[in-house]
Amino acid sequence: MKILLVDDTKTERLIISVYLEKLGHSVFCAENGHQAIELFKSSNPDLVLMDVMMPEMDGHEAARRLRKDESDWVPIIFLSGRVAAKDIVAGIEAGGDDYLTKPVDFTVLGAKMTALERIAKMRQKLLEVSSELEHANAELKKIVNIDGLTGLANRRYLDKQLHDEIARSIRNKHELSVVLCDVDLFKKYNDTYGHLKGDDCLKKVAQAMESACKRTTDLVARYGGEEFMAILPNTSAKHAVLVAEKMRHAVESLNEEHSASNLGKVTISLGVYSTVPKNEEDSELFIKNADEALYDAKEGGRNSVQLAK
Ligand code: GH3
Ligand code: MG
Ligand code: MG
Repeated sequence: MKILLVDDTKTERLIISVYLEKLGHSVFCAENGHQAIELFKSSNPDLVLMDVMMPEMDGHEAARRLRKDESDWVPIIFLSGRVAAKDIVAGIEAGGDDYLTKPVDFTVLGAKMTALERIAKMRQKLLEVSSELEHANAELKKIVNIDGLTGLANRRYLDKQLHDEIARSIRNKHELSVVLCDVDLFKKYNDTYGHLKGDDCLKKVAQAMESACKRTTDLVARYGGEEFMAILPNTSAKHAVLVAEKMRHAVESLNEEHSASNLGKVTISLGVYSTVPKNEEDSELFIKNADEALYDAKEGGRNSVQLAK
């Protein structure tokens, strides 16, 4: 263990540190509370052995300051000639964990070191586990918002973002646009080329759609099945139609064979809805209007963009 030994008496520091080093620990010595605080920061010890009676700043005060600054727990054992019940209480209240009477009984000190080493190992394990958990949690947070097939944001994330963007647009009095997109005749695509090829095609369509959205605030998500949605904050109807047209063009340019479609390749239809929202609960209104526009695009012959009326 790395041990920080704080004592104003040179002989005490020498005797105790020689003993601790013999037990295999490395010892850093401080002569007073101020030095202890500095060394604590730079040496990152596993344990602090702290004399109580010291000039300038006593051990209790030094412990209080250490506890105030530290982010995780390092045991502090006080060394004192005076260990009455009220001293023990004062020491624990100052942030200490244990007391050792002076002059130090080395058998007792050795035994306490063994116990503390066990605790330090457990603490290390706990820190490792908690860092693994933190990492796993961060991964989970990512996964929970991502569509497994396309790697785009999923419906859960889309719903939340749409809600948040509506609220933001109300605050800023900005126009918000959504684009709902549906792959044309995709059932026939699956029937002709099989479901696996269909999955592959959806991945390509997703990438093409995303490549058409340039602003960092834009979001393209998988709405469900072969449907995708883009949220375009602070974007006018005119501009949203341009973005949708870019998406349509990007998918058409994939030149993904689709023998059952008119053009002989995979295409998409898109519905656009834009407005300055007035009500935080307007998500459904956005989806409904974009869906109606999408329906019109399908009715109009597919592979086209339609703005909601
Ligand atoms: P329309 O042009 O009118 O949109 O015709 P469509 O055939 O695309 O419409 P429909 O809603 O009848 O069919 C959608 C198809 O998309 C049916 C479904 O099996 C397929 N689909 C939905 N999700 C997936 C998926 O994750 N992978 C694959 N391969 N197919 C999917
Ligand atoms: Mg569909
Ligand atoms: Mg479709």
